[in-house]
Amino acid sequence: MSESYDVVVVGGGLLGCLTAWMAARDGARVLLVDKDQVNQHASGQNAGSLHFQLEYRMVEAGEEAARVAAEAMPLHLDAAAMWARLEEEIGESLGVRQTGGLMVAENADQVGMLEFKAELERSWGLDVRTLDRSELDTVAPYLSRDIVAANLSALEGKADARIAAPAVARAAVAAGAAVCARTRLTGASHTPTGWDVTLRETDRTGEVRTRTVRTAAVVIAAGVWTTELGQVFGAGLPTVPLALTMTVTSKVPAFIPHLVQHAGARLSLKQSLDKTVLIGGGWPARLMRDADGAPEFDRKHQLVPRSIAGNARAAVNAVPSLERVPAVRSWVGTTTVAPDQLPLVGAVKGAPGVFVATGGSAFTLGPSFARVLTGLLAGRSPDIDLAPYDPARFTEGSTP
Ligand SMILES: Cc1cc2nc3c(=O)[nH]c(=O)nc-3n(C[C@H](O)[C@H](O)[C@H](O)COP(=O)(O)OP(=O)(O)OC[C@H]3O[C@@H](n4cnc5c(N)ncnc54)[C@H](O)[C@@H]3O)c2cc1C
Repeated sequence: MSESYDVVVVGGGLLGCLTAWMAARDGARVLLVDKDQVNQHASGQNAGSLHFQLEYRMVEAGEEAARVAAEAMPLHLDAAAMWARLEEEIGESLGVRQTGGLMVAENADQVGMLEFKAELERSWGLDVRTLDRSELDTVAPYLSRDIVAANLSALEGKADARIAAPAVARAAVAAGAAVCARTRLTGASHTPTGWDVTLRETDRTGEVRTRTVRTAAVVIAAGVWTTELGQVFGAGLPTVPLALTMTVTSKVPAFIPHLVQHAGARLSLKQSLDKTVLIGGGWPARLMRDADGAPEFDRKHQLVPRSIAGNARAAVNAVPSLERVPAVRSWVGTTTVAPDQLPLVGAVKGAPGVFVATGGSAFTLGPSFARVLTGLLAGRSPDIDLAPYDPARFTEGSTP
């Protein structure tokens, strides 16, 4: 076998590209493979929010659920610091602006939740402040008069999902990593020194070539395909797949400097640097499934008109002037979460030398996931306690 690497990274989304770049910078011989194109899936389809406050999906199930979700805060803080220097380190624009994020509330219950949430976040070290209506008049005059308060995190903001992963992939190549698109990892066998992995490459004419490469380690950065990849390595990596709705408007003069989220509704919105407004926040789309109900991730998933309308209504309720801004496109993206809203990050149990990260806001958290994974690859002890994110925590017989 002629080809051998220190690490094969499976997945050319933001996480895989960042991991390949960091590992190559560390001096590792890295191969990144993607069965499609770099940035073709969640990393290129998402809302680009950099949210370090707990999101609505983390607080809607109540205070206990929020306390569990807050255990990811060390990763949030790490990611916030890393995004602030990432463009300089990569040497290209990633569209990063950390100009603050507001989680808004419209009634007393939601304000109570904001206060609880801010206290919880501050206990983990995130600087969050609750603004009242008169402060919002100055800080965010574009918000509806129905908004009575908001939590502000100055670290929050956005990056451009269309350009971030491709820029990082270029940095990975410059650091010495090899990147192969249209190359699917289809099999793996354990060897005394690591893994022999089978790669199925489809060229532009449709011709298929299969090869086996030897590697000491493997990183699964495969988004919704994580569970499938786990099976290739004989490991259980249960994740919950979601298909979600996004909408973008036409361009309007810049008037929303913040990331805006809602304490009582599915909503995230922001104005991109190109002046369009991106609207999302977790409204469901239709995930395609086979006759037995198993998700089929390689199919095109379907928009649900009710979700597009509901998402638009939530946006206009928060920012009334959006009513006059035409929506130009809606699309579906797929992503994973775990039942406890915490990510899966760490070594894969039963598969020595295999590491994984996925779950939740892996765009925001991509830099810290990649930093943790690269540390594990190099044999460094993690400086963040990974126990809450143990990839085996939902597998039968494992102690949480
Ligand atoms: C609509 C939507 C909006 C979102 N908004 C936000 C947001 O605002 N902020 C945020 O932080 N997060 C957001 N997310 C979540 C975020 O997009 C994802 O968590 C993140 O992009 C995942 O990145 P990734 O690199 O792990 O996976 P992906 O970007 O999905 O990349 C995985 C790659 O693995 C490849 N792959 C899979 N199997 C194989 C195989 N066998 N061989 C080779 N390659 C393989 C795939 O082709 C794919 O390119 C959103 C998600 C969606 C769907």
